Amino acid sequence: MQADRQRNFVSDNHSGICPEAWNAMAEANSHHVDAYGRDQYTKKVCGLFRGIFDTDCEVYFAFNGTAANSLALASICRSYHSILCHQISHVETDECAAPEFYTGGAKVLPIAGELGKLNPIDIAELVKKRTDLHFPKAKALSLTQATEVGTVYKLNELKSLKETARELGLSIHMDGARFANAVATLNCSPREMIVQAGVDVLCFGGTKNGMGMGEVIILFNKELSQEFDFQLKQSGQLCSKMRYLSAPWLGMLQDDVWLKNAQTSNAMAQRLKVGMEGIGIEVLYPVEANSLFAKLDDRLIAGMLYRGWKFVKFIAAGGCRIMCSWDTRNEDVDAFLADLNELHGNDEDRNGEVEIMSH
Ligand SMILES: *Cc1c(COP(=O)(O)O)cnc(C)c1O
Repeated sequence: MQADRQRNFVSDNHSGICPEAWNAMAEANSHHVDAYGRDQYTKKVCGLFRGIFDTDCEVYFAFNGTAANSLALASICRSYHSILCHQISHVETDECAAPEFYTGGAKVLPIAGELGKLNPIDIAELVKKRTDLHFPKAKALSLTQATEVGTVYKLNELKSLKETARELGLSIHMDGARFANAVATLNCSPREMIVQAGVDVLCFGGTKNGMGMGEVIILFNKELSQEFDFQLKQSGQLCSKMRYLSAPWLGMLQDDVWLKNAQTSNAMAQRLKVGMEGIGIEVLYPVEANSLFAKLDDRLIAGMLYRGWKFVKFIAAGGCRIMCSWDTRNEDVDAFLADLNELHGNDEDRNGEVEIMSH
């Protein structure tokens, strides 16, 4: 029988809006305010971000992560530049060439690297391979934190990437769709992460961490902010009723809700990991954020799907991806594990269910 699951493990964008963000938006809804970011909510949120990072950064809002990343990269690159990123990064694999489009033609150069991470040696090698006029000039280093395979760059890894980038004249973009999860894992301050990594421009994710939509683009390097507002407007990312993108952040930033949400989803992934390893299922990467990649055979997958569970069956990195959200509960994880355990231990049962499925 298929259960009617309220929560699934496909992605952290399957979850709804957390009450704090929802309430903050409701509060901003009752009256007329200035448009295009001149309202008090937007101003307050920008101030809060400056407080969190303890620096006078520029704060902008975009509707989604693709736009945020692409605009961030467009603040760094001109059309004849290149963007270095991991070969399974969102920038390379999931943005329909928007970074190339927004930069007017900058070339994205994917690089391999273990555990979804880039390393300084490979970056330097690629940059030094071609420095002539006939190849795009290397300009941006794009790091995803937490990575697409649920790992997290440690602070010392970020520091050596920064040093390499500075030597090579690269500016640093951080795709922080899951920045909160990484901060929660490293147990560092957001500022420490940014300083260690020498981030010039950060995309701070909200959507996957309990908001309805909206990512924040934070420019730490003021030179990059020149005319950035025009780039944002031209790309259709200037929200006229800006308060609906910004006000939810008041709920998220108050009492560190953003961090607590991430701590919850991270903890649920840890619970999954412990349970899966107990069952004897191979976990493919260190679980350092809110996702887990596991090797499940086809019959196990079919059995779980038949029981109403949802997760990503196959993803570029290989294996199944099981992802937790801010609202994933212990009970959800335990029920998932119980089904997995039952199916794993019972081949006959699994055969039966696969058969039923084909009818
Ligand atoms: C989800 C995600 C994004 C943003 O995706 P959109 O669908 O454009 O909002 C960016 N980077 C990473 C690593 C993501 O997982």
